[in-house]
Amino acid sequence: MPAMIMDGRAVAGRIKEEAAARAQRLAGAGIIPHLAVVLVGEDPASQVYVRNKENACRKAGIRSTVIRLPEDCGQDALVRTICELNADEGVHGILVQLPLPEDMDEQAILRLIDPDKDVDGFHPMNVGRLASGQSGFVPCTPLGVMRMLEAYDIAVEGKHAVVIGRSHIVGKPMAMLLLNESATVTVCHSKTKNLAEITRQADILVAAVGRAGFVTADMVKPGAVVVDVGINRVDGVLTGDVTPEAAQKAGYLTPVPGGVGQMTIAMLLHNTLDAAQRRGK
Ligand code: NAP
Repeated sequence: MPAMIMDGRAVAGRIKEEAAARAQRLAGAGIIPHLAVVLVGEDPASQVYVRNKENACRKAGIRSTVIRLPEDCGQDALVRTICELNADEGVHGILVQLPLPEDMDEQAILRLIDPDKDVDGFHPMNVGRLASGQSGFVPCTPLGVMRMLEAYDIAVEGKHAVVIGRSHIVGKPMAMLLLNESATVTVCHSKTKNLAEITRQADILVAAVGRAGFVTADMVKPGAVVVDVGINRVDGVLTGDVTPEAAQKAGYLTPVPGGVGQMTIAMLLHNTLDAAQRRGK
């Protein structure tokens, strides 16, 4: 039997509705939630991502401001911008669109963001909070995956979860979230040996590699929950990391497009509202 396709649009749609209601309540209390997005350079994909974030904010009643800096602005200009946003009481969330130009120190920039405005959850303080099970901002994509599992009543406790990928943005926080929910977690990466042997043991398999068709049907345990985080463009067509054939083996599968990608923006709204709410207290 083919897998149940997990509808990211529907789940994210519900989260966006909740976000709009929350934004309205905050506005009623005199707080206009405000997200500042800093975009350096003209990367076409980044421009699209930022536009999508702006649109989602507008629909939810969240104010968004995009600060555009030229590619060659230099790190000092970016540092100044972040310091101004940190100091601005009217700004609740700050997001620096990645990747930054190669001559900039990404980690140093992310460390500058006030951890209480760090709605992407990349600041070491928030990474540490997640690792030690304390509340803080969690990166939007893995947080969205957890909400998707929850929406489909997929229990995590006691399951063997295998995460392919160990980036700061997806793989590591994903593993941490699953571990915090008492899954037994294996993290795989490019140096992992016998990858397919490991993935075949997964009750929950998360693919965050960035290679089209990387996860083939023979790597999937029958009935497993397969979460496809990958976003790849093949001949102009958007595709994930998991081959369509894997859908015949999996019990549940997130599609690309229409899966995790939808959840990422919804969770950005959620994090921004959390930031506004905390400031309002
Ligand atoms: P990344 O930083 O490039 O990380 C990719 C990971 O895959 C690395 O940990 C790498 O291992 C691992 N990998 C590469 N080749 C492998 C192999 N042959 N076997 C096993 N592991 C391998 O990418 P990312 O930022 O985590 O993103 C991953 C994918 O998710 C991309 O397609 C990205 O576009 C997508 N994404 C989607 C969303 C969304 O909203 N849906 C959000 C963020 C990212 P090493 O560490 O050993 O190099």
